[in-house]
Amino acid sequence: MEIAIVALAAAFGLCIGSFLNVCVHRLPRGESVVSPGSRCAACGTPIRWFDNLPVASYLMLGGKCRACGASYSARYLVVELITALAFALTAAVFEPGPLLVVRVVFAAMLVALFFIDLEHQLLPDAITLPGIAIGLGASVFLAPGLVASATGAAIGAAVLLAIRWVWKRATGVDGMGLGDVKMLAMIGAFLGWQQVWLVLFVASLTGAVVGVTIATAGRGSMKTRLPFGTFLAVAAFLAACWGEPVIAWYVGLITLQ
Ligand SMILES: [Zn+2]
Repeated sequence: MEIAIVALAAAFGLCIGSFLNVCVHRLPRGESVVSPGSRCAACGTPIRWFDNLPVASYLMLGGKCRACGASYSARYLVVELITALAFALTAAVFEPGPLLVVRVVFAAMLVALFFIDLEHQLLPDAITLPGIAIGLGASVFLAPGLVASATGAAIGAAVLLAIRWVWKRATGVDGMGLGDVKMLAMIGAFLGWQQVWLVLFVASLTGAVVGVTIATAGRGSMKTRLPFGTFLAVAAFLAACWGEPVIAWYVGLITLQ
């Protein structure tokens, strides 16, 4: 039974991943994600439904446009597979029910933000602002509850605004966009204020490790701007699935002393 639900979630993830590809390509360009239908980015030929099946069409056409032969980025395939994986993991962690639906929506938004920030250094309001609203709205009925959710959104925004302000005072440069601020507010709205700290900690730590690695490998300097939203997305997904036991363990650690 559980395996069937996880498999179903993975299949659903492939289809949503196909739509997220449209979002990742069009949202940073300010285009509609609804119309026109999918078309080749090179020649503009509309892509027929049978050439637009997740994974299968990409593999069958060798990642090329049927009309003009232009190569499509492997990102299309990767986004679909990562979405499938994210949905399957979410379905394995949460019981079937309304919270699972909310967390699947959250995962889809994180996948889109992950790739858009990675490629364009941008976190579109078209995702983060509705995300804050959905997170708050769902918390009226579901975990983490409206108070934890509203506090989470406020703390998420306030912490990054404070870091941004201090950084600007100290260095004179804008180290962080407002997109990161809205994204952490969205994460707080979905997961509650306790998880905001965990997400911030994990994202900063992995960001620092990756940043130093890139710098020492000579592929950039310490001033290379890292897509912080990409790290936030990974940390938020991990926290959504496995953050509660970590926080419970940490709280136990403090209260035992
Ligand atoms: Zn084409």
